[in-house]
Amino acid sequence: MTDVEVLVVGGGISGLSIAWWLAQAGVSVEVWEQTSRPGGKIQTVKENGYLMEQAASVVMNFRPEITHFMQKSGLEAYKILRADTTNRYLVNNGKLLALPMQLIPMLMSPLWSWRGRLRMFSEIIIPKGGNAQETVSEFITRRLGKEVLEKAMDSFITGTLASDPALANAYAVLPRLTYLESRYGSIAVGVIMNKLLQRKTAAITEAFSFQGGMQTLINFLAQQTCFRSEHAVTEIAKIGKKWRVSTENKTVFAQQVVLSTPANIAANLIKPLDKELANCLTEINMAALSVVHLGFSHNDIKHPLDGTGFLTPRKENLAVTGCLWMSSLFSDRVPSGKVLLSSYLSGALQDDEQSVTAVMEALKPLLGIDCSPENVRIDRHKQGLPLYYGDYTGRMAKIIKHLEKLPGLYLEANYQGGVSVRDRIARAAEVAKKILAWRKI
Ligand SMILES: Cc1cc2nc3c(=O)[nH]c(=O)nc-3n(C[C@H](O)[C@H](O)[C@H](O)COP(=O)(O)OP(=O)(O)OC[C@H]3O[C@@H](n4cnc5c(N)ncnc54)[C@H](O)[C@@H]3O)c2cc1C
Repeated sequence: MTDVEVLVVGGGISGLSIAWWLAQAGVSVEVWEQTSRPGGKIQTVKENGYLMEQAASVVMNFRPEITHFMQKSGLEAYKILRADTTNRYLVNNGKLLALPMQLIPMLMSPLWSWRGRLRMFSEIIIPKGGNAQETVSEFITRRLGKEVLEKAMDSFITGTLASDPALANAYAVLPRLTYLESRYGSIAVGVIMNKLLQRKTAAITEAFSFQGGMQTLINFLAQQTCFRSEHAVTEIAKIGKKWRVSTENKTVFAQQVVLSTPANIAANLIKPLDKELANCLTEINMAALSVVHLGFSHNDIKHPLDGTGFLTPRKENLAVTGCLWMSSLFSDRVPSGKVLLSSYLSGALQDDEQSVTAVMEALKPLLGIDCSPENVRIDRHKQGLPLYYGDYTGRMAKIIKHLEKLPGLYLEANYQGGVSVRDRIARAAEVAKKILAWRKI
């Protein structure tokens, strides 16, 4: 039996980035991953010249921790910025409508009725309100009106988080907007103040991927940390001051352990230690979703694909909740003259033919396509994204309280603090700091 200072269970982006921050600080750390490869949900696949992402495809960064990470790691050299295209499209009455990202042109978009626009303008004078249990629907309707919820926010929450805005907790999934309200009394005032003060955190500063896709980030992290594949952890136990971590045929003692697995797996491992904490984790449900990647010749598509892609409000009743035009976002994703469209569907159970048919029915009228795709790949995630439903803040407080009774044990994966790669790497830095601080006690 060997000893290690910190053992991280789970080699997705959460676990790998915690290990990376710790390794930078000189800590002896291992990452144990049950499958044969690092990355968890994230994997880049190249088929017939098309570079496709199984899960995360873009890092939307506005956090200084990520900028620091990119510079310190040297990954800055492999970064590819999203193409300088400003159009984002929404499906509106069965057609694609460009939604400008600058405030004034966005407010003047034909998407909004005059009534809706006036309601948006009145946000500035609406008093502070809400509570920690407020849902996205309640928060957005209260501050910006029903039209913003139905025409824009609904599609953002369903398309990017596979969640229902009527159930998703506003504080958990819209932390920046809820913060602006609580700090400045109004989202609009908060945005203006941050602009005036030139706070970098006030706006998305850049969106990027890597040469070779997100796999480059994953491979880099796995190489820089002590990553062990085919290490499925079956048991953790507290023995004296140390943690004993076991797979079917290996055991290690660690001073500190981080569980970076999905919540249900963490629940199984924790059950013998704290049943209530395990129950709390079991309550976190996951949304199933599929990604259908279709490759075409550029000439087969009438739409200029002059944007990042589109999102679909639920009232439009389309199978596709969102579509990223990957070949418009990043120049290195397709062979010359080709395009790659990655569409997202809720659920993971459809068969291949049904999935492609459903996507083609949605895309054909929107993009003017009258032929079949020449390349098809489907990625299914039965447990795709955690749902930040219900009393998120209460649940997280409960988790923290229970963990206080299990010193040296940490839970860190995408069911708390945000699902994005940005939030995962930034949260990992915070957890690493806690681990380092505990080490000094
Ligand atoms: C379709 C899709 C599209 C997305 N698009 C974006 C995007 O464009 N931008 C963005 O920022 N984010 C995006 N995301 C979100 C992001 O990809 C995920 O939230 C993130 O990758 C999750 O990382 P994680 O490490 O927390 O969890 P996982 O990736 O689930 O990693 C957990 C790891 O734990 C391992 N494990 C489980 N049990 C054990 C065990 N007993 N022993 C050892 N190991 C174990 C698993 O095998 C897995 O490798 C997307 C997600 C999906 C599904």
